[in-house]
Amino acid sequence: MIKKGNKLYSILFQKCPRCHEGELFSAKPYQLDRFIKMPDRCSTCGQHYVLEPSFYTGAMYVSHALQVALLTTVYVTLRVLWNPSDNIYIAAIIGSAVLLFPLTLRLSRSIYINFFVKYRHDHERREVA
Ligand SMILES: [Zn+2]
Repeated sequence: MIKKGNKLYSILFQKCPRCHEGELFSAKPYQLDRFIKMPDRCSTCGQHYVLEPSFYTGAMYVSHALQVALLTTVYVTLRVLWNPSDNIYIAAIIGSAVLLFPLTLRLSRSIYINFFVKYRHDHERREVA
């Protein structure tokens, strides 16, 4: 079981990387008009979620890696279980990429901010740069 204090907890449950309590995103993943909106700072510890201007540009690389892993998984799964025609492969890969886009985008941001912010069990609300 993944417990608070582990980076995987913050990444998978999309919690503040510093306190693992505040929500990283303001809306649910499939509220398509605002699925990527994040509060400016954590409601629990005050950690800023945008560490510098254009901070999440780097998350594109993480998102790319996640998409490649997803598409490879879909391809291998179809190949092993069914071995369908090329059109089915293309439809399944594009369909899974589009359907899971909000999840992979949010996950990539969550992974990316966890590269730079460490968990502190003794957090308290204060100004953090
Ligand atoms: Zn926090």
